Amino acid sequence: MTICFKGNSFKYETEAIMKLFLPVDNFRFVYDDVVTDGDFALISVKEENEFFRLEVSVSLDGKKAVMKDSIAKENGFSSCEFSLCRMLYKCLYKITGKAQPWGCITGIRPVKEVNRLIEKNMSREEIFSAMKEKYFISDEKLNLAYKTAVTQEKLLKIPKKSYSLYVSIPFCPTRCAYCSFVSHSMDSAQKLIPQYVEKLCKEIEITAEYAEKAGLTLDTVYFGGGTPTSLDSEDIDKIMKTVAKCFTLSTIREYTVEAGRADTITAEKLVVIKENGGNRISVNPQTMNDSVLKTIGRNHTAEQVREAFSLARKIGFENINTDLIAGLPSDSLDSFKNTVEEVLKLNPESITVHTLTLKRASSLFANAKQVSDDDVAAMVAYSVDRLCKIGYNPYYLYRQKNTLCNLENVGYAKEGKESLYNIFIMEEAQTILAVGAAASTKLCDAKSGKIERVYNYKFPYEYINRFDALMQRKNEIAEFYKKYPIE
Ligand code: SF4
Repeated sequence: MTICFKGNSFKYETEAIMKLFLPVDNFRFVYDDVVTDGDFALISVKEENEFFRLEVSVSLDGKKAVMKDSIAKENGFSSCEFSLCRMLYKCLYKITGKAQPWGCITGIRPVKEVNRLIEKNMSREEIFSAMKEKYFISDEKLNLAYKTAVTQEKLLKIPKKSYSLYVSIPFCPTRCAYCSFVSHSMDSAQKLIPQYVEKLCKEIEITAEYAEKAGLTLDTVYFGGGTPTSLDSEDIDKIMKTVAKCFTLSTIREYTVEAGRADTITAEKLVVIKENGGNRISVNPQTMNDSVLKTIGRNHTAEQVREAFSLARKIGFENINTDLIAGLPSDSLDSFKNTVEEVLKLNPESITVHTLTLKRASSLFANAKQVSDDDVAAMVAYSVDRLCKIGYNPYYLYRQKNTLCNLENVGYAKEGKESLYNIFIMEEAQTILAVGAAASTKLCDAKSGKIERVYNYKFPYEYINRFDALMQRKNEIAEFYKKYPIE
């Protein structure tokens, strides 16, 4: 498929729309030249007096669709981009007959838009009608986004000076086949771990100083990865003790450690987490089907998940999350339903249902038997229905690129057990100071809506070797709060 741009180069968003309908990586881009043989899409903007004249024409498998529109120049050239995307969506829908569940919304945070409309005091009906008109979202997905926004409403009332701390542990016992994260398996990373822990503790100290100088108050702590419990209990203890020493934990409302994979969870580690203030953990089965676990390269069984879960309960954890994935290769609709039922028997406080994302780095991309689109959609629909009916409310939702059927990831929780950190990061509602390799700090000014990011190096060896240079970047925290002082 050739995509031709005439009078514009709005590649990023138009490509995202194309990917909703056509396989990834199939595009050739041409600028200021028109190719009209074979399959093509023409995205054109022409200036004419006081108007931008827009045209989108698509030819695919011998079928054609054309749309034209005009935008007054006073709206600015950049306003053409979204109109072109809508036109392209309509052309592709006309040709393929496939409506997309999330319509032409390509961003990862659809709930943010709903929250914005709620803040304007718009009614549910007005929001539905505005979102449908603008993005062509299905009723089913609008319902889900709206419910999520309603759950978030009271939780988004955040104390002004508060912030969250994210601690990155980018190691895992082995690499899952579907993983595209920079996580390192323990075999390859073992020798890096002592230096990593040392630098991480140093960065925690430095970050605490910046937070104190900016007058911030710690609200939530989140240890993520990777799999934080792939470290041994001494290292977990050392890092958590450093956090306790450098920050005031008496103000925090939530302290999560993603225990993650059952094969890394031991009584010793859970006790360390609990004694150091951790009050929320994740035990993430992804599936309770042993053969699917094997296919995706996770060296544990469903029984080990049950054991890890019950161990955590015995040690006193009253807030446990479980992550599931819809669409794992070799899974089936019945087996996914069974996974949901098996997880419900554990009675977790929250359940996060992801839809599988296949990215380049994933080794499943080439050789695994995929679940059909209809079954992936049915899995996701089942989880929404089943969980909502028994009192798990959706409380955060996000989308990712290259997700099967362009579906979403949703966190469900019993009332009062929603993870604040997950909401804050997803809705970009609070500053997150992040430490460790692959972590990114997000500085948010609620008043102006301004957001700035400071990225740490991705890989542990870079993080270790270039630590001093990296710490220079921390000054951006101070600079940000000079520009946007908290009143
Ligand atoms: S546990 Fe998560 S981060 Fe680790 S390898 Fe598996 S998918 Fe990747």
